[in-house]
Amino acid sequence: MSFLYQREKETAIRAVIAASILTGRIQNDLIGKRSIQKEDRSPVTIADFGSQAVICKILNDAFPDDPIVAEEDSGELSKPEHAENLLHVTHYVSVSFPRVSSGEVCQWIDLGSGPVSFRYWTLDPIDGTKGFLRGDQYAIALALIEEGTVRVGVLACPNIILNSHEGKEARGGLFVAVRDQGAVQLDMTGHSSRKIKVSSVNSPPQALLTESVESAHSDHQLNLELAEKLGILRPSVRMDSQVKYAILATGEASIYVRMPSPQTPDYREKIWDHAAGSILVQEAGGKVTDAVGRGLDFRCGKRLEENYGIVVTNGLLHSTVVNALGSLLP
Ligand code: AMP
Ligand code: MG
Repeated sequence: MSFLYQREKETAIRAVIAASILTGRIQNDLIGKRSIQKEDRSPVTIADFGSQAVICKILNDAFPDDPIVAEEDSGELSKPEHAENLLHVTHYVSVSFPRVSSGEVCQWIDLGSGPVSFRYWTLDPIDGTKGFLRGDQYAIALALIEEGTVRVGVLACPNIILNSHEGKEARGGLFVAVRDQGAVQLDMTGHSSRKIKVSSVNSPPQALLTESVESAHSDHQLNLELAEKLGILRPSVRMDSQVKYAILATGEASIYVRMPSPQTPDYREKIWDHAAGSILVQEAGGKVTDAVGRGLDFRCGKRLEENYGIVVTNGLLHSTVVNALGSLLP
């Protein structure tokens, strides 16, 4: 058994669990008060910032020399008009860190403004904001990258529905992968580890395709044409966030295709939207590339500048999907 990245893995799990307790509370509190509305971004703002503060603090304590490249910074939150939001964030962060001040919260959030380097962490404190606001699927995604390759990935999916061994449904799961050490699923407390692997589906008609809920985030029409071309029989499953990678890694779905929406044809994917999810699927036996079969390159900055679109499969279907997609692209 390899112990390479053991401390990184354990720290990342601890950080993501602490953040998911915070985001779960916020989602519950706000849904309980019926105050989650699409136009009102404040709940997600609080959860984003709180999650980022907690994770950056825990990572920085354990690995003070590692840069963290995270989605948020404290610029907006520090403005006087957001004083109340900052108090809310501080309140939720104090559940993990009693007596924390608002100033410290902002400092911890800004630990996430590090540079893309030889070795760095990347974090999406709430992936799938729109899903979070709907009270639906979202993820907390943390990954360690070295030399442009993801080495450790931890994905918390607090609202995922999982089939347990006894045939009962369970809610919430942590997904953890270390390069060359496989992928596992844990419960939300970090226990009950079980190895996971991708599906063994080798003919497209049996495959389940997953895609974003938001039509602004990927080309739904193209996916429809792709499914038709491949003879996929079942309708696609739409889900927010990197939970899509998790259902690929557990074998529930076999194909995830994300091509830029016609509304944003030049969109380049963000590193934190794919780092944790991609290693999870790879270590579960699957394959992750861009639309033309190139591996994802995490050396270019905050965006995957060298990649166009994302194709994720169980591996067995990969070349079939990439070829079919190629025939549909201009
Ligand atoms: P999903 O829930 O899979 O639709 O993905 C959520 C992620 O989509 C967010 O974390 C954003 O970073 C990302 N996103 C935002 N705008 C776009 C866009 N125009 N195209 C693709 N992804 C986007
Ligand atoms: Mg995201």
